[in-house]
Amino acid sequence: MKKKKMKKKSDWLTKEKKRRAKKKDRGIVDVMMLMRHFFKELPQWLNEMADPRNLSYITYSQSDLVLMGILKNMCAVKSMRSMEETFNEQQCIDTLRLLSGDRGLMEMPHADTLNYYLERLSPACLADVRKKMVKSLIRKKSFYHSRLLGKYWRIIIDGTGLFYFREKHCENCLVTTIVREEEGKEVKIKRYYHKVLEAKLVLAPGIIISLDTEFIENENEDVSKNDCEMNAAKRLLDRLGKEYPRLPICLQGDALYAAEPVMEICRNHKWRYILTQKATRQKILAESYEWIAGGGGAERAEGLGKEKGMGEYVNHVEETAGKKEEANMYRYWYETNESGKKETHEFQWITNIELTKRNLEEMIEAGRGRWKIENEGFNNQKNGIYDIEHLNSRDSNAMKNHYLITQIADIVMQIYLSFSPLRKEIGQSIKNTSSWLLESFRRHTVTDEDVSYISRYTTVYLE
Ligand SMILES: [Zn+2]
Repeated sequence: MKKKKMKKKSDWLTKEKKRRAKKKDRGIVDVMMLMRHFFKELPQWLNEMADPRNLSYITYSQSDLVLMGILKNMCAVKSMRSMEETFNEQQCIDTLRLLSGDRGLMEMPHADTLNYYLERLSPACLADVRKKMVKSLIRKKSFYHSRLLGKYWRIIIDGTGLFYFREKHCENCLVTTIVREEEGKEVKIKRYYHKVLEAKLVLAPGIIISLDTEFIENENEDVSKNDCEMNAAKRLLDRLGKEYPRLPICLQGDALYAAEPVMEICRNHKWRYILTQKATRQKILAESYEWIAGGGGAERAEGLGKEKGMGEYVNHVEETAGKKEEANMYRYWYETNESGKKETHEFQWITNIELTKRNLEEMIEAGRGRWKIENEGFNNQKNGIYDIEHLNSRDSNAMKNHYLITQIADIVMQIYLSFSPLRKEIGQSIKNTSSWLLESFRRHTVTDEDVSYISRYTTVYLE
């Protein structure tokens, strides 16, 4: 018989430490503190949006409604209905009143009230509030250290599907045809879906926030899927250029965006780019690179990155390839040997940053980081705490606004997670931190003392 293992003393201590840390934690107060510090004017920005409602019947301010939506996301409350039940606590009402600054707030708004409002609000309003939040973050010195080569803010563009329908759901649905076999015959079935293109900003290694969103909508039936995403990317990038004219940007994206039109937009805005290179996308560049490298014309460095792999680069491949846009190309590879199975992992990129032996390693890390962020970012939003694929409303305007509220909530949540003592001290998971925040929102009364503490100490605590 197996001997029952005695628990080590250190395990008990950790458990006790965990209990103590959780008992001490007042997540909702921390969230208020962070919001005051980073986005002091958020309630005001929300109330300044063009209000679509009939002003003579208004009970709730716009900041009441949107902040409730933000808390719904941060606390991982999945449906509008469960929000109504879970948030029906005196503490929630009192805290929302403090957060929104609406002294007349006596009850939590109904889910229907929020949806009615979001069906009418222009999504451009919430996008504008997000822009104000992002700008105030960029101005803080807290995030300067994560800029690429000490200068460029990394912006990653990436698209994903959001909602899927069997029937045509609205005028803007994208359509795809699936071929299925039924009783030996090929049947073509149409399916409808919605898709978004996101521009994400890397603020710190663990903080990657939504900077801008382009909803990809049906243009007409003969525009291909790639063109559709590429056209959306052009609209998104042009808007970024207008809204952030002086921001030093390094644009990153997968091979779909390693295309002349994207590079040209970057050149016009004086942006840098790092794009994934695939021979199938940029064939002539790939051939030219191989030709130069084969003749010994590439620079090499070994022992790079955490896998201690090999790096290689050639600057200005566009000259050999006869292309207009600057194409400095580099690649990275390493080998793994797991249980006798040898495998080579290879990555390749195109950039308009001049490559040197000094910057090669940082450039490789940046290129690979994009891949990691794309894979984690949307997956976290789909399967993690927000569940962005959940349909809070069938109305297509409200759908967009719900999506934007999730992106705004995610900005606050990521900052909260990176400061949270529960994450730092006891390594609590994101999901548990989010459910614990819900507990705190429902149970803790935020006092006047907390509020004066918040306004006195936030700056000192966070800088
Ligand atoms: Zn639709």
